[in-house]
Amino acid sequence: MSVTPRTPILPGATIGFLGGGQLGRMTALAARSMGYDIQVLDPEAACATGPVASRTITARFDDVHAAVELASQCDVVTLEIEQIHPDVLDAVAARTTLHPGRAPVYIIQDRIRQKQWLSAQGFPLGAFVAAQSAHDIAEAVRQHGACIAKSTHGGYDGRGQVRLSEPDQAADAWSALGERECLVEQRVQIAYEISVLVARSASGQTVVYPPSRNHHTSGILTWAVVPAVISDSMTQRAQTLARDIAERLGIVGLLAVECFVTRDDQLLVNELAPRPHNTYHHSERGLATSQFEQLVRAICDLPLGDPQVYAPSAIVNLLGDVWLQDTPPQIEHALDVEGVRLHLYGKAGARAGRKMGHLSAIGTDAQDALGRVLESYRRLSPGTTGSFDVHEPVLAHITS
Ligand code: ATP
Ligand code: MG
Repeated sequence: MSVTPRTPILPGATIGFLGGGQLGRMTALAARSMGYDIQVLDPEAACATGPVASRTITARFDDVHAAVELASQCDVVTLEIEQIHPDVLDAVAARTTLHPGRAPVYIIQDRIRQKQWLSAQGFPLGAFVAAQSAHDIAEAVRQHGACIAKSTHGGYDGRGQVRLSEPDQAADAWSALGERECLVEQRVQIAYEISVLVARSASGQTVVYPPSRNHHTSGILTWAVVPAVISDSMTQRAQTLARDIAERLGIVGLLAVECFVTRDDQLLVNELAPRPHNTYHHSERGLATSQFEQLVRAICDLPLGDPQVYAPSAIVNLLGDVWLQDTPPQIEHALDVEGVRLHLYGKAGARAGRKMGHLSAIGTDAQDALGRVLESYRRLSPGTTGSFDVHEPVLAHITS
């Protein structure tokens, strides 16, 4: 894709965020350190990005009036969540620069629309069905065997998903998903999961990150590590796939492409995210340019930074469960592991499954970085390791 002359938005300017969760917070911290001012719009007055912003507008993601207020104060607006009403995206884009723009976000924010777009473009996917009824879900299970039914909007961290293995479970799944149209995916025989992050600037420069190797427990990311310890040819295939999708979408900002690698070595797209991604939080530690700084560079049309791995690095997520144990988190023990850093998102109200922070580590290789961060986690929260799949055998995943 051609590179057009740059029109940079320079430090001193104000960046607006639609969404004020941890992704906004970490991007805002990077933007602050580069000299930008920050404003944020979020439904929660005490959102995680608030303390880093000069101004927080408390409003829903379908509040056009509030979005216009944000846009009127900002030189560029970005987003850290894709569930922004299209009217809000239009209203912001009419008043200031919006990156990523309405078109890619609109495609991605509906799981069915996203899958149909990927399929129409010829990108590799597992089998899926757009279901309009319990009957459609049952048919999908009959045809494809074990499936996962997913709500079209608003699901994250495995929420809004129901696993089925028999057609007679369809009625319960349909009602659990609110009796609304849903996506039904065949359950893929996953050998391992990877993601690839792509950054594209307003003038068309593209940078592709090395793949991250990711491990989920009950649909929630447990850990991620880079380098991914996969073959050079799989790295190449995954990077080419992610770059092609980003370019076809014409996205400006970041695109994370979540992939499954099957037991017979097929590379399938799981889903897309047009924003910073949990599987690249290690980029702050071991990569030359963190995903957060890269997003700022991309939307401000500055030269993109080097994505290469300078130190193998890994993260483990800290869910609310850690704070709900009888014993509080043993932070001083966790930080006694060399190479480990603690990241907390400043969220009050720990709930089971809620992302509250993460631990990161650098190491001599991927196995070492992952070993350190998991050891740190075990020291932090001995009570939750049982449910959280951070046992020693997990390490075998990255050499398999
Ligand atoms: P997140 O917000 O963490 O990305 P999500 O709620 O958007 O999660 P998905 O990415 O759809 O959910 O699924 C979460 C995890 O569940 C996947 O990373 C994978 O481990 C598993 N999973 C999802 N879909 C399938 C599938 N079709 N076959 C097998 N496993 C799947
Ligand atoms: Mg996902």
